Amino acid sequence: MLMFRQLFDPQSSTYTYLLADPDSREAVMLDPVYEEAPRDSALVRELGLVLLTTLETHVHADHVTGAWNLKQRLGSKIAISADSKAEGADRYLKDRDTVKFGKRFLQVRATPGHTNGCLTYVLDDETMAFTGDCVLIRGCGRTDFQQGDPRAMYRAVHAQIFSLPESCLLYPAHDYRGLTVSSVGEERRFNPRLGGEVSEDDFVGYMSNLGLAHPKQMDIAVPANLKCGRREGAADTMEQPSWAPLNLTFAGIWEVQPHWVQEHAREVQVIDVREPAEYDGPLGHIPGAVLIPLGDLAARAPEIGKDRPAVTVCRSGARSAQATLMLKKAGLERVANLAGGMLRWRAQHFAVEGGRE
Ligand code: FE
Repeated sequence: MLMFRQLFDPQSSTYTYLLADPDSREAVMLDPVYEEAPRDSALVRELGLVLLTTLETHVHADHVTGAWNLKQRLGSKIAISADSKAEGADRYLKDRDTVKFGKRFLQVRATPGHTNGCLTYVLDDETMAFTGDCVLIRGCGRTDFQQGDPRAMYRAVHAQIFSLPESCLLYPAHDYRGLTVSSVGEERRFNPRLGGEVSEDDFVGYMSNLGLAHPKQMDIAVPANLKCGRREGAADTMEQPSWAPLNLTFAGIWEVQPHWVQEHAREVQVIDVREPAEYDGPLGHIPGAVLIPLGDLAARAPEIGKDRPAVTVCRSGARSAQATLMLKKAGLERVANLAGGMLRWRAQHFAVEGGRE
């Protein structure tokens, strides 16, 4: 068994892959993106996984890796090719090394050509391979900067990737058309640059005449990636609020735990977004909670002061999650959802006004 997730960063069209062994819960993540670290760490947490290592397929030129950011958040180790010349990794990988997670492992294969430190990671049973910017779906990475070498790429692709079983699925680091997966058999036949009858000299001729502009992020991304994405003080897409120990869910909602709200009742305003009959119903309500049903919230948001953070609550936490998004849209900066709603609040025996036992 294998747990597998393909994640996408729309800014750089990068795929990040999460692989885990469901028994041990040990996981690895390939090619995380710096700005997506809040999302990626939320997923690891929600799936109950332990992220052992982040793995780079190469030193990227189009985005900053999330390796260092995730190490700060989750304590994961950083692994990258020894040939990358990157500083700050915990492990430097070479051809045929293995990276274990639980009972599973990835085998490292050197596939230089796009950069000289490019690696492809092959799953233990050869059913999946992660090719980075070497083989892309019906394409390949460019070879015109960062030690690019079309001859090295051609040879690596044929020796290390096209030699895998036909059915082996190929997962690239990028796709700009939204394609998600290919296979060895498919690319061997239909890759217009590397497949079919294309010879090494044909490939070199093709690659020497692409005439591409350099990536916009290159001057920022390459130096940062040569330090495994270490950048003190840079902002995430979702900066961690400081007013409470909030947790960002993979769904993108900031949550606060009931015990924190109970202990800081005077410092926040609780907004109950249920219907009036529920507010006065069997579950009762949190003392001092202001009732504004979800349907009225957009219109009545100006009633909510900005002097104190707002915590939204409903029966289970679903409507109040939507309420946090509406309040943010209405200009409230400090908003969080009460995790688990009134059901969890009551289950944990916190103060309730009205309601029945
Ligand atoms: Fe690249």
